[in-house]
Amino acid sequence: MIIGLIEHDRGILNDLSLQMLTLGRRLAAQLNLPLQAVLIGADAQPLAERLPAYGVAVVHLAQHERLDDYAPEAWAQSMVELMGSLEPQVVLAAGSERGNEVMAHVASRVNLPLAANCTEAQPGEPFLVTRLRWGGSLLEEARLSGSVKLLTLAPHTFAAETTASTGELTINTFTPSLSNKDFRVRVLERVETAEGKISLAAAKVVVGGGRGVGSAEGFRTLEELAELLGGAVGCSRAVTSLGWRPHADQIGQTGTRIAPDLYIACGVSGAIQHMVGAKGAKRLLAINTDPEAPIVAKADYAIIGDLHAVLPALSAEIKRKRS
Ligand SMILES: Cc1cc2nc3c(=O)[nH]c(=O)nc-3n(C[C@H](O)[C@H](O)[C@H](O)COP(=O)(O)OP(=O)(O)OC[C@H]3O[C@@H](n4cnc5c(N)ncnc54)[C@H](O)[C@@H]3O)c2cc1C
Repeated sequence: MIIGLIEHDRGILNDLSLQMLTLGRRLAAQLNLPLQAVLIGADAQPLAERLPAYGVAVVHLAQHERLDDYAPEAWAQSMVELMGSLEPQVVLAAGSERGNEVMAHVASRVNLPLAANCTEAQPGEPFLVTRLRWGGSLLEEARLSGSVKLLTLAPHTFAAETTASTGELTINTFTPSLSNKDFRVRVLERVETAEGKISLAAAKVVVGGGRGVGSAEGFRTLEELAELLGGAVGCSRAVTSLGWRPHADQIGQTGTRIAPDLYIACGVSGAIQHMVGAKGAKRLLAINTDPEAPIVAKADYAIIGDLHAVLPALSAEIKRKRS
């Protein structure tokens, strides 16, 4: 059996888990094994109904009075208990921050290796994986050992593909035995983003700013363009280090990985650590005063010029066309 952890935040599904099910289905077909899913927390139950469309007919639902919010060790312990009773051959999760965190705890509790951020998996003897290393700047081919293969799938490697569904769904509820030590790490407080704000990870258009923006106030022109295009504003680490924007806006290796249709990078040089987070963008427009900036060579389109002149002109032209 293959089991896949379906990640959610208080009942809101993380779509990266649906991408993981695409890999799960492929492995299940190759190994001739059933693919089943795991949901943790009672508020996740409604999500089960979405899973038959992605090839899952059996869902295991961990219910416990303290599983009302994310707690990585409690999630891991729930997975470990389930693994003990189901004896799966492969356990999968999305290569998200939470997916990697939970699976790292699982791996340590069952004393097995974890292959995180895989882009390919080829079952057999040996079980081969390709995975992202060094923030995505190199691909590593590795042999995964262990009686149970533990993997996470790098975000946006596969599309979330639906399948011809029988519509049948079985939900097996279980209560993991959890103790205080499983809740050493738990959510204490939530700081919500402004209502209606499009999340950086999900935005179809991202307008990103780097040190070239010059100041926190300089981001107003980026916000205006993002609003006109129905997008979100992001930034480089130079900007968060300078305190111009919060860390939640940072794109890159140590920030958010974006996958928009269009990324407009303004005054960003294109350092590898930034580009790791932007490589899911389908199109890249760079606005930079320096024609030799690395990002210009990587861009689909480039405007060589001062962003303080280019951005207001772009916004004005969009408004003129729409009026
Ligand atoms: C371990 C590690 C992790 C890191 N993680 C991240 C990460 O997650 N995300 C990230 O972004 N970085 C990360 N970095 C930092 C990264 O290496 C770069 O230092 C950073 O991305 C540079 O930011 P920048 O492009 O805004 O600034 P700079 O490199 O200073 O580039 C500024 C650019 O603006 C242009 N410019 C200046 N004025 C204008 C103007 N008026 N109009 C148009 N263009 C103008 C310049 O030509 C230049 O190309 C990390 C570094 C390390 C070591």
